[in-house]
Amino acid sequence: MKLRHVLPLIIGFVFVPAALMLTVGILILVYGSVARDYLFGILIVSLVGTTIIGSAATLAVLFREARVAKLQTDFVNKVSHELRTPLTSIRMFVETLQLGRLQDPQRQREALEIVAEETARLSGLINRLLDWARMESGRRVYELSRQPLGPVLDAALAAFEPQLLHHPVQLERDLPPRLPSVMADRSALVEAVLNLLNNAFKYTGPDKRIRLSAVASGPTVTIAVTDNGPGIPLRDQKHVFDKFYRASDPLRRTVEGTGLGLAMVKHIVVGHGGKVSVESEPGCGATFRIALPVAGGAHG
Ligand code: ADP
Repeated sequence: MKLRHVLPLIIGFVFVPAALMLTVGILILVYGSVARDYLFGILIVSLVGTTIIGSAATLAVLFREARVAKLQTDFVNKVSHELRTPLTSIRMFVETLQLGRLQDPQRQREALEIVAEETARLSGLINRLLDWARMESGRRVYELSRQPLGPVLDAALAAFEPQLLHHPVQLERDLPPRLPSVMADRSALVEAVLNLLNNAFKYTGPDKRIRLSAVASGPTVTIAVTDNGPGIPLRDQKHVFDKFYRASDPLRRTVEGTGLGLAMVKHIVVGHGGKVSVESEPGCGATFRIALPVAGGAHG
C-alpha cells in the first residue's frame, strides 16, 4: 500500500489528535486555571472530533480500496475474456485445418490469415500487460535523448496506418513544418501518441475523423489527437487516466479494451516531465493533449 493511500488514516488518527492535544496543552498553559475548569469539556470535544475525523478517514480509505478491488476484478474478467476469445478462434481454425475440412486453398489461406491476426492480437495484449507490469513495478525506465518532434509524430502515424486497412479514416495531419525537439524516449513517446490514435479509432463510429496536431508555445509543445466520436461525459473525464478504468456507458463498454491504455499514456508523459489532459463535450468528440517541455527551453 502506498503512502498516499494511508495518508487520510495518518491524518485522522495521528495528526488530528496530536493537533487537538497540542491545542489543549497550549490553552492550559496560557489560561491556567480557567482552562482547567473546562478541561473535561475540551477533552470530550477532542475525543469526539478525533473519532469523527478518524472514522471518516477510515471510510474514505475503505471505499477507495473497494473501488480499486472492483476495478481489478473487472480487469481480470475482461483480460481473461480477451485472452480466451482469440485462443478459441485459433483452436477452432487449427482443428478445422488438421481435420482437413477445408479443401479449397482460398478458404485455407483465409483461415490461416485469421489465425495469424488472432495470434498478433494475443501477443499485443500480452505485451501490453507485461509493459504495464514493468511500469507499475518501476522497472520501466525512460532513456531520454533530444528528439525532433516531427519525426516522432510521423513514426506514430506510420504505426497507426495498418488500422486504415480495417476501416477508412479521414485522417488529418496538422503539423507545422518546424516543430521543436523534446527530451524523449522515442519509442515510448511514439507508443503514447499511437495509443491516443488507436483510441480515437476505436471509439469513433463508422464515419471516422481523426486529427493529429501539434503546436509549440514558449517552453511547451502540445500534441493533440481529436476525434469525432461520442466524447466522454464530464464525470468520466477525471477518471479516464486511472488504471483499469473503463467508461460506464454501455456503448463504449462494448469496445475491446483493458482500461490500461490511458494510464500507460499518463505514465509515459509524466516520465517525460509533461502533462496529459482531455477535453470533450459529449456527442462532439474528444481531444486528448500531451504537453511536453521543449528541449533546451523556449521554441524560437
Ligand atoms: P481501453 O482499453 O478501455 O480503451 P483506455 O485507458 O485507453 O482503456 O481508456 C479508458 C476509457 O476512456 C475507455 O474505456 C473509454 O471509455 C474512454 N476513452 C478513451 N479514449 C476515448 C475516446 N477517444 N473517445 C471516447 N472515450 C474514450
